[in-house]
Amino acid sequence: MATIFSKIAAGEIPSYCCAQNDEFYAFLDINPMVKGHTLVIPRREVDYIFDLADDELARLHVFAARVARAIKSVIPCVKVGEAVLGLEVPHAHIHLIPMQSERDMLFSNPKLQLPADEMQAVADAIRQAFEKA
Ligand code: AMP
Repeated sequence: MATIFSKIAAGEIPSYCCAQNDEFYAFLDINPMVKGHTLVIPRREVDYIFDLADDELARLHVFAARVARAIKSVIPCVKVGEAVLGLEVPHAHIHLIPMQSERDMLFSNPKLQLPADEMQAVADAIRQAFEKA
């Protein structure tokens, strides 16, 4: 059975798309820790990120770096942090989180609820920056 993230990458479930290519897909986390919190996934369905082949893992990170640069260009932050958990959704993904401080990386923090139009505007801005780079 396809994972929820496979369905998102295939466009069968809506998402706030930030970037994509043939192999990878980036979209806003629906329960963001901070504005601009983005997930990056391989379209290929693999649960545990460290089960990816070395070259696919490398390409995923190169793609995530491009997304992180786009995020940093549109969301004021000190740096974009990267985290991998995978405890909830069994489809490999990287969290990209614009940080003001270390506290922004605490997954135990309460999550934000941003209005749909704000989520859409953030995703559009990241996608435009990604495509322009
Ligand atoms: P984890 O597997 O522990 O890395 O957490 C999964 C992350 O996916 C959480 O931060 C969720 O908020 C996020 N998430 C789950 N379902 C969706 C969805 N449909 N769209 C966007 N983000 C999601």
